[in-house]
Amino acid sequence: MATQKSVIDKSGLWGIDMGGTKIEGIILKSAKEPEVLFRDRVPTEADKGYPHILGQVEKVVNMMKKAAGFIPAQIGFATPGILDPKLGLMKNCNSVAMNGQPMKADLEKLLGLKIEIANDADCFALAETRHGVVKEQFPDARVVFGIIMGTGVGGGIVVDGRAIVGLQGIAGEWGHNFLDESGGPCYCGKSGCVEKVISGPALEKYYFNETGNKKPLKDIVALAESKVDPTAQKTMIRLVEFFGKGVSVIINILDPDVIVIGGGVGNIDLLYDRGLDSLRKYVFNNRLDTPIVRPLLGDSAGVFGAAFLVG
Ligand SMILES: [Zn+2]
Repeated sequence: MATQKSVIDKSGLWGIDMGGTKIEGIILKSAKEPEVLFRDRVPTEADKGYPHILGQVEKVVNMMKKAAGFIPAQIGFATPGILDPKLGLMKNCNSVAMNGQPMKADLEKLLGLKIEIANDADCFALAETRHGVVKEQFPDARVVFGIIMGTGVGGGIVVDGRAIVGLQGIAGEWGHNFLDESGGPCYCGKSGCVEKVISGPALEKYYFNETGNKKPLKDIVALAESKVDPTAQKTMIRLVEFFGKGVSVIINILDPDVIVIGGGVGNIDLLYDRGLDSLRKYVFNNRLDTPIVRPLLGDSAGVFGAAFLVG
């Protein structure tokens, strides 16, 4: 393993992914050669509260420092929520202990270096652009939209290899655009959000409301594929229809060169054939040129994206 001090030099990119269950650190050789020189993780233990989470981050940074023999001037961070650029406080995190906390300032003070923060959907888009499917299949793409469709629905915008965070930190947050009233109230205070219609839990809830049976999404998908359960098929038709409606808004506004779809719902095959038909129907054009592709990096996208924030 190439984790000796000698191979980690000042051109390395350091990134940390603060997930709900683990905090992972990575050191890449350089922006041009993103070879992994160091990678390790500790549990987040988010239930022990905010000061404990900061301590766990410090633990990871110390492990990285030990491997490298030095500390860099800056580290990139992927977080489950958003840093409010005006207030300097975290918001919209599902690890609720982080919400309302001045995490950037606290971490900079604790670690004695500068940090760049972006949310995990931004980091996903950035990682797939710089090191994943976009780099491999669409190397000339300038504008990339990364979608995460899973337990929640999020998104990130990358332009010319940089994540666009936005004036209020919410660029790309299409999961809370209005989609359909049938989705019902959302935790964000609004109603009928994209996330309430096409996330995994939203589809499971729809199936449950129709049948009285609680089933995980993967079972509903399998039942629909084997054509033995009309309600499962109806749930998938609903997904396909609203996927087209929801994603057409992204294309009409941004018209990206490529869209990458990650997350558990993003894995459903139907999105890449009938989903595209639905999208074609709703987009403001007489055809659909936008490539809609699956990611390559899997769970690694967050930590790679964090590192690319600083290089
Ligand atoms: Zn919402």
